[in-house]
Amino acid sequence: MARHALPSLSDTEREAIEAGDVWWDADIFTGNPDWKKLLAFAPARLSDEEQKFVAGPVEELCAMLDDWKINWELHDLPPEIWDFLKKKKFFAMIIPKEYGGLGFSAYAHSEVIRKLSSRSICAAVTAMVPNSLGPGELLMQFGTKEQRDYWLPRLASGDEIPCFSLTSPEAGSDAASMIDSGVVCRGKFDGKDVLGIRLNWHKRYITLGPIATVLGLAFKLHDPDHLIGQQDDIGITLALVPTNLPGVSIGRRHLPAMHVFQNGPNWGHDVFLPMDHVIGGVEQCGKGWKMLMSALAAGRGISLPSLSAAGAAFTANVTGAYARVREQFHVPIARFEAIQERLGRMAATAYLLDAARRMTCAALDDGHKPAVVTAIMKSQATDRMRISVNDAMDVHGGKGIIEGPLNYLGSLYRGVPIGITVEGANIVTRSLIQFGQGAIRSHPYLLKEMMALQDTDRARGLDAFDKAFWGHVGHSIVNTFRAWGRAWTGGIFAPAPSAGAASRFYRQLSRYSAAFALAVDLSLLSLGGGLKRQEMVSARFGDILSELYLSCAALKRWNDEGRQKDDFPLLEWCLEASLATIETRFDELIMNFPVRPVAWLMRFFIQPLSPSSRGPSDHVTQACAAIITNPCAARERLTVDLFVPTKTEGDGADGLGLLKRAFEMTVAAQPIRDRMHAARIRDADKALAQGTITAAEAAQLKSTASAVSAAIAVNDFAAEELTSRGAAKKGDVSSQAKNRRPAAAE
Ligand SMILES: Cc1cc2nc3c(=O)[nH]c(=O)nc-3n(C[C@H](O)[C@H](O)[C@H](O)COP(=O)(O)OP(=O)(O)OC[C@H]3O[C@@H](n4cnc5c(N)ncnc54)[C@H](O)[C@@H]3O)c2cc1C
Repeated sequence: MARHALPSLSDTEREAIEAGDVWWDADIFTGNPDWKKLLAFAPARLSDEEQKFVAGPVEELCAMLDDWKINWELHDLPPEIWDFLKKKKFFAMIIPKEYGGLGFSAYAHSEVIRKLSSRSICAAVTAMVPNSLGPGELLMQFGTKEQRDYWLPRLASGDEIPCFSLTSPEAGSDAASMIDSGVVCRGKFDGKDVLGIRLNWHKRYITLGPIATVLGLAFKLHDPDHLIGQQDDIGITLALVPTNLPGVSIGRRHLPAMHVFQNGPNWGHDVFLPMDHVIGGVEQCGKGWKMLMSALAAGRGISLPSLSAAGAAFTANVTGAYARVREQFHVPIARFEAIQERLGRMAATAYLLDAARRMTCAALDDGHKPAVVTAIMKSQATDRMRISVNDAMDVHGGKGIIEGPLNYLGSLYRGVPIGITVEGANIVTRSLIQFGQGAIRSHPYLLKEMMALQDTDRARGLDAFDKAFWGHVGHSIVNTFRAWGRAWTGGIFAPAPSAGAASRFYRQLSRYSAAFALAVDLSLLSLGGGLKRQEMVSARFGDILSELYLSCAALKRWNDEGRQKDDFPLLEWCLEASLATIETRFDELIMNFPVRPVAWLMRFFIQPLSPSSRGPSDHVTQACAAIITNPCAARERLTVDLFVPTKTEGDGADGLGLLKRAFEMTVAAQPIRDRMHAARIRDADKALAQGTITAAEAAQLKSTASAVSAAIAVNDFAAEELTSRGAAKKGDVSSQAKNRRPAAAE
C-alpha cells in the first residue's frame, strides 16, 4: 500500500534528491522550528584577506568598468578588464589556494559578485560563471587527483577559460533529455592508440562559450562494444573538452537581452576524447546528473542570489535618491503616497534579500549544501529583484527608459529575465523543485520511508520502513494538535524567543510552520505520487516554504545586527507581507485542493477563518520609504558595500555619480527650502530680496538646482551615431542551422 501511496522517483529525480543536504528547511518541515538554534547560528563573516580583496581589487575593478561602453560600443569587456580579471584571480575564487586559487568562503564569493553587480552585469556574470556550476567546482568535487593537479592551476591562473555546456536546442529545462552523445571506442590521441569517446553534440546559450578554451560538456554515453562494462547505455557523463580538438566548433555569439557577456552555441562532430578527460575518470561515467545536481546544490545559492540582492539594494538606493531630487507639481516625488508605496516595497525587498543571502552563505560556509534552500534562494531572489527593478523603472519614468551613459537602470532591467531563466527556469523551480524536492528531502520521515521501500533486501527494508513509518505517525499526530491549537488561538501561545516587538512574528512563523507541516502530510497522504503533477498545488506549498525561510532570514538579520530600532519598519514590512502571502496561499490551497474532504480537514485544523493578515500598513510602508529617501544609518546598512562612484561632477561623472551629488546637495539644501516654504516663497531671488535667505544660501540653491538638472538629464544621439549600430551585419541564423548537427546525425 505504501509503495502505491508514496511518490515514485525517476532516476534523475532520485539523483537530484540525493544531491546536497538539508538545513533550516528541515526545521520548518518539523512544524516546530528551533528558534534558539537559528539565532545561535554564527552569521557570515569575511576574513581579513577577503575584506582586503573586496576593498582592493574589487573596488579597483568597479572603478575601471564603464557599462555603457562595454554594452553599446565595445560589445565586450575591454582587454584590460579581461587581463585584470585573470591576474587578480576573479575566476578562481572557489579554487583552493594549494592550486593557485583564492580559496574564498561562499560569503566572500557572494560579496564580490554583489559589488560587481552594482556596477556592471556583464562583468558580474563573467566573473560568476567560472565560480559556479562548471569545470572548477566539478573537478574539486569529483575530479581525479591527476585532473585536479593539471586543470585547477590552469583555471586559477586564467590560462584556461572554462564554460559549462549542458543546454541544447532540444533539451532546455528537461536537460536530462539531451540527445548529445558519446560512444566509447578506441582512437588516436597525441599519436597514441587509447580508449576514449567519440562525441557529437550541439549546445546553445553557453556563457563564456565563445571564448572558452575548455568545455565542461554533458552528454549521454553509450558503450555498444562493452569496452568499459556490461551496459550499452551508461547515462549522462561529464567531460572536459579542450576547444582546440579537431571537430570542435565554437559558434558565434548570442546577444542575451542586449547584454554582451560572452554567450553562444557550440557543437562537435566526431570529436575523439581520451577517457581520462571524463571528470572523475571511468568510475564517474554515467554519474553526470548526480554530479551536476551536487554542484548546483551549493552554487545556485551564491551567484544569482548575490546579483539579485545587489539589484534590489542598488535600485532602492538610486530610486530613493531620485525620488528625493526629482520634483513634479513643485514637490519631490518622494512625497507622493503612490511613490512611497513603491519605495517602501523596494526598501523592504532590499533588506529581505540581503538577509537571506547572508544566512544562506553562512550555511554554505558551515559546510552545508542545502539543495532546497538554494533553489528557494535562486528563484525567490531573482523574482523579487524583478519586482524591485520594475518599481524602480516606474518611479524613474522616462529617465529609466532612455538609454545612454546617463542611464543606470536600463542594463539591470534588461538583465532581469536572464537571472530568472538560467540555473533552472523559475517556473520549474517554483512549481516542481522548491516543494517537490523539499517535501521529500526536508521532510523528517518521507525520504527514509521511500528509501526503505526501494531496498532490495525486503526484510531490512521492512524494518527500516516500520521505524520511519511509526515515527511519521507520531510526528503527524503531535503536529495535528500543534497546528490546530496554534490556528485556533491565533498563534498567541506558539513558541518565540524574547525578541521585543519582533516576538509576535516568531509566534506567527511557529504557527504557520505547524500548519505547513500538517498540510504537507495531508497532501502526501491523499495525493501520493500524484502530488508532483499538481504543479499549482506544489507551487503554493513552495511559496509558503519560501516565505517561511525568507522571514526567518529577516528575523535573523535583525537580531544579528543588534535589533536596530530604525530598521524595525523594514522587518515589519517583510514579515507582514510574508504572513499575508502565507495566509493567501493556504486559502488558495484549501479552495483548490482536489481531494475535498482533505481540504475540509485542512480548513478545520489550519485556517478556520478567512485570511486575516492584510500585509504591511501604509504607515509602515511610509516609514520604509523614508529610510531610502533620507541619508541615515538604516539607509547605509541597506546599501552597504555597493559600489559608490567617486567622480560626481564634470567630465567622467556617470549617471550614478551625478545622482549621488544631487541627492547630497538636495538634502543639504532642505533647511533653506523649508524656510522659504514657511514664508510661502518659491523663487530663490525673491527669497533673497526679502531677506528670507542669505546670498550664500541663494548660491547654494542655484548650484543644487544645476546638480539636479545634471542628475535628471538623459542622453540623445546624432543619427549617424545610431546608424553605425544598425549597419552591423544581421545575425546569420542559417549558417548556424547548417552547422547545428553533424552531417552524419542529419
Ligand atoms: C543568457 C543565458 C545564459 C545561459 N547560460 C548557460 C550555460 O552557461 N550553460 C548551460 O548549459 N545553459 C545555459 N543557459 C540555458 C538555461 O539554463 C536554459 O535557458 C534554461 O534551462 C531553460 O531552458 P529553455 O530556455 O530551453 O526553456 P524551456 O525549457 O523551453 O522552457 C520554456 C518554459 O517552460 C517552462 N517549463 C518547462 N518544463 C516545465 C514543467 N515541467 N512544468 C512547468 N513549466 C515548465 C519553463 O519554466 C519555461 O518557462 C543559459 C540561458 C540563457 C538565456
